[in-house]
Amino acid sequence: MALPDLNSIERPGSTVRYLSELAEHYLDLPIEAIVKQDILRLGLAFDEQVLAGSYKAKDYFIFTFDHVPLKNQGEGIRFRVPEEIRIEGGPFALLPTVVSVRVNPQSPYKIGLNHGQVSLSLNEEVLGEVRFPPEPAWYRHTTASGKKPGEVAPVIEWGYLIYLTVFRNCQYFGKEEECAFCDINHNYRQQKGEGRPYTGVKSTEDILEVLQWIDQEDTTAQVYTITGGSITDQLRGKTERDFYLEYARAIEARFPRRWLGKIVTQAWEKEDLLPFKEAGIQIYHPNYEVWDADLFRRLCPGKERFIGRDTWVRRIVEATEVFGASHVIPNFVGGVELSEPHGFSSINAAVASTTEGLDFFMSHGVVPRFTAWCPEPYTTLGTQAGPPLQYFCELLRAWKSTFEKYKLPVPPGYGSPGPGQAVFSVSAFMDVVGYRGRSAAMLA
Ligand code: SF4
Repeated sequence: MALPDLNSIERPGSTVRYLSELAEHYLDLPIEAIVKQDILRLGLAFDEQVLAGSYKAKDYFIFTFDHVPLKNQGEGIRFRVPEEIRIEGGPFALLPTVVSVRVNPQSPYKIGLNHGQVSLSLNEEVLGEVRFPPEPAWYRHTTASGKKPGEVAPVIEWGYLIYLTVFRNCQYFGKEEECAFCDINHNYRQQKGEGRPYTGVKSTEDILEVLQWIDQEDTTAQVYTITGGSITDQLRGKTERDFYLEYARAIEARFPRRWLGKIVTQAWEKEDLLPFKEAGIQIYHPNYEVWDADLFRRLCPGKERFIGRDTWVRRIVEATEVFGASHVIPNFVGGVELSEPHGFSSINAAVASTTEGLDFFMSHGVVPRFTAWCPEPYTTLGTQAGPPLQYFCELLRAWKSTFEKYKLPVPPGYGSPGPGQAVFSVSAFMDVVGYRGRSAAMLA
């Protein structure tokens, strides 16, 4: 079967045969990366019978990343699915591959039992054995304020990253300001609506108490991220910079350089970044979301109005003078350039635009990473088909070749790179780092 024309946006149904054809065509990409992107793109369905026993459940650490609202998930599924899965073996002899869980009961990818073993199938064909992440021992504790660690300082990426969403809302509010792909405010409302304890603004005391247990009991977590929504006015009497700075200073004062500290915030001027660097933060993620200027204006209306796309880009580059180029890692939302109604009308056009941005940043030593766009139901973009798998193959190819062209170092703070090693679970960008390709004969 000929692969679709890249000057269109055809979406062939996912089958094992189609994955094989892509694996034969994209010999420079690990098969693990292709399968991972397809699972992220389409989400996962679950047989309730596999959701028993002990494992780390999905903590909803910032967004839902689900294809259906919580209220439409069955009783046996809601809050029972694991944070991630790790697939291995099967017809492609997959190396262990960690993938974030995005609930979609309609997905052709399903987790169920096969001869008593938890397995992943695609349209009933088994793709490999599956493990769920272990729940850290320190999850058993409760803070003095009565909170569980998974609510205060959850871990993701198979326990590697401590994710501190210290402000669970965003002051960009409503369709005129919220980023069109982002469900942070909708996630908060859904969690509260389901009766979950879901703290809007976390206290430094709670965070330090949980970090104390991690410090004493955990050897897997290596990195923490401080993040949350944008603050356009003030929050608890503080500006955005001062609000987030308080957490960085508290953590690094108590546990200096115990973990690699990162912040994900808006793009700030150098003088606003210096106090973070001085506090001990090492990596800065000023996420630019989408490269095309017109799409940035349409998809990130709040950021466009309050900061502006050109200023945002300039500040990313200037941040290298504070953190060093390799430690400025802005995210973009892979695939949102194809979103309806304003996105590009072909895979080629979308990847060409994004590659222009990759080349610009990488020529300055800045390595953008990406997360795979998940069309979440309550966002401005809403539920829609999303990008085809071949878009992600082309994107990974473009990302990898640009990264190699500039001979850039492995992005710090993501663990080991390459297939079978990568733990970054919301895209396959780390899975392709260092991959040397394979010959078609190896697939025979
Ligand atoms: S700035 Fe945009 S992406 Fe970030 S939390 Fe707010 S709405 Fe979401």
